Amino acid sequence: MAILVQKYGGTSLASEEARRRVLGHIERERAHSYALVVVVSAMGRMGDPYATDTLLSLGGSAQSLPPREKDLLAVCGEIISANVLCGLLRSEGVPSIVMTGGQAGIRTDAGFGQARIMRIDPDPVMRQLEQGKVVIVTGFQGQSDQGDFTTLGRGGSDTSATAIGAALRAERIDIYTDVDGILTADPRLVEDAKPLDTVSYAEITNLARQGAKVIHPRAVEIAAQSNIPLRVRSTFSDGEGTLVTADPVSESQVRDRLATGIAHVPKVTQISVTADGHKDMQLNVFQSMAKHGISVDFINVTPGGALYTVFDEDADRALEVLGKLGYTPAAVRGCAKVSVVGSGMHGVPGVMARIVEALTEEGITILQSADSHATIWVLVRQEQMTAAVRALHNKFELHL
Ligand code: ASP
Ligand code: MG
Repeated sequence: MAILVQKYGGTSLASEEARRRVLGHIERERAHSYALVVVVSAMGRMGDPYATDTLLSLGGSAQSLPPREKDLLAVCGEIISANVLCGLLRSEGVPSIVMTGGQAGIRTDAGFGQARIMRIDPDPVMRQLEQGKVVIVTGFQGQSDQGDFTTLGRGGSDTSATAIGAALRAERIDIYTDVDGILTADPRLVEDAKPLDTVSYAEITNLARQGAKVIHPRAVEIAAQSNIPLRVRSTFSDGEGTLVTADPVSESQVRDRLATGIAHVPKVTQISVTADGHKDMQLNVFQSMAKHGISVDFINVTPGGALYTVFDEDADRALEVLGKLGYTPAAVRGCAKVSVVGSGMHGVPGVMARIVEALTEEGITILQSADSHATIWVLVRQEQMTAAVRALHNKFELHL
């Protein structure tokens, strides 16, 4: 039995018209003899009646509802959308059944709001597939060993889909969304951004971590571990979208494509702290950030000091914490992280030179930089972010 997992995001389920498109994709794949597992998100976005954000706002302020109850409220969104879709499928004569995360065998720890999948028992879903049913699974949720509903963290339906796909040894996992796949850059910034036919797991993970919101990076990691291909595609077109696999193109083609895409994360603050004779400065700084739940990024530690970024919204708190520790940190607010992502850049000389060239030509100052085998990051001022993304997109000829 060849199994296909499809995952539909909130906008793909938000209206009757959208759900009819979903029906079309389900019928097409059934006609190709696939056994189908359909993982759904809650319908719509903030403000829509059954969207996750809307439901959570019904529970009063975030503090008033304990984490367990907050999860119990949040899972309702997916339960509603799963049943609405099931109704549509059945009215069209497509045999289908709804399973909650727990019923679909997804066991998690009890980390409400951010639960981790411990194991998946594929049998309950398998039994339904063997009876020829389309199995609709509520995304974003699992069940703890104590029998409580848990959620997998925001954007967790992607993770549900790839985890189920891995457990069932699916042939492929299709992530249906409202864009035509992975683009070389954000089209709101770069007019000639192009859809990519193929990307590697590493590239899409880096793009997603660096601000491209197409798929949750955790979901990609699970697919990569099991080596199951993913497709990111649009519910609203018949295009095939972007195929994500371990080795999308041959070695020579990878080398031709030095960079795959440009991503960006706006609104970050660069903080620098100098040791100035303070003992254990680095340890104190990062321990205190962790203790206050401030996430740090772009970290650069030298014997004389520490340089890192936090989100703009955390900057005041971070500076206050550092001040209380007796440091006099310097801060550059309103920065943006711009990343050049591409597995093809590994071991190729001159990539950083090109980046510096592109930015220098536009008079853009690099405040900080870092690199890994598939990404080079630069920190620039927020007002130069768009120009930086465009210059890099051009320099690496991603529009061609
Ligand atoms: N509905 C959940 C959220 O908004 C999960 C998801 O859509 O992936 O975070
Ligand atoms: Mg999502």
